[in-house]
Amino acid sequence: MTSRDRTPLVCGNWKMHPASNALAESLARDVVANLRSAEGSSPPGVEVAVAPVFTALVSVAKVIAGTTVMLSAQNTCSEEKGAYTGDVAPSMLLDAGCAMCIVGHSERRQYYAETDAGVSKKRQALLAVGLRPIVCVGETGAERDAGRAQAIVLRQIDGCFDGADAASLARCVIAYEPVWAIGTGKVATPEDAQEMHSAIRARIAEKFGEKVGTAMRILYGGSVKAENAADLMAEPDVDGALVGGASLDGKSFAAIVRAAVRP
Ligand code: PEP
Repeated sequence: MTSRDRTPLVCGNWKMHPASNALAESLARDVVANLRSAEGSSPPGVEVAVAPVFTALVSVAKVIAGTTVMLSAQNTCSEEKGAYTGDVAPSMLLDAGCAMCIVGHSERRQYYAETDAGVSKKRQALLAVGLRPIVCVGETGAERDAGRAQAIVLRQIDGCFDGADAASLARCVIAYEPVWAIGTGKVATPEDAQEMHSAIRARIAEKFGEKVGTAMRILYGGSVKAENAADLMAEPDVDGALVGGASLDGKSFAAIVRAAVRP
């Protein structure tokens, strides 16, 4: 297997936007319309997902039904049922139409004190109901400046995949998102992204076997825009993108999806 055999994935993380269900539906319609090529279908060879807030999942699911765009959640509870006020179980996300779910986003780690152990539990809970986890890792600016970026990210990989079995890894996606690049307009250079993606892949191969490492999709996230996407996607270990700000505009998002098509 080579990088050409891994189907790229581009997922739009809408975070806590837009402000209403009506606006979320309108954004979803905008995404679908902009993804349509002249032939009337999404670009082949790329998986596309959008991740609205919990309350807009069902509305957006209706808009994207019958298209190739998949639904993702931005977070999940690690428990299936019980007294967890304010939380949403993996099976509820499945019921709402989700195919995947982001876990361990740096904003969750920063504002809600999420840990690698917690992310690992969420990963397992998602897999148990058939949802695909998008597991986020990434170093802060201070950690990069201190020369610790790779050590930090690989430690997160170890923690987030603690106790995982090789078979379940095939249903997981990793997103490398340097914290200093998220929402800042500062994007990692393609070379720096490639270096980290290659190190992550090597770690997965070391822990779970060469075949699993080679097959693992590793997305880049952090200020991906229509203008910089092609250079990032050209790197052999960059298998798509997790996109925040630029996913709130159908035209920009579709341009990023097109940039992810393997030549
Ligand atoms: C993100 O939130 O996952 C992200 C990458 O945001 P942005 O593209 O806005 O940097």
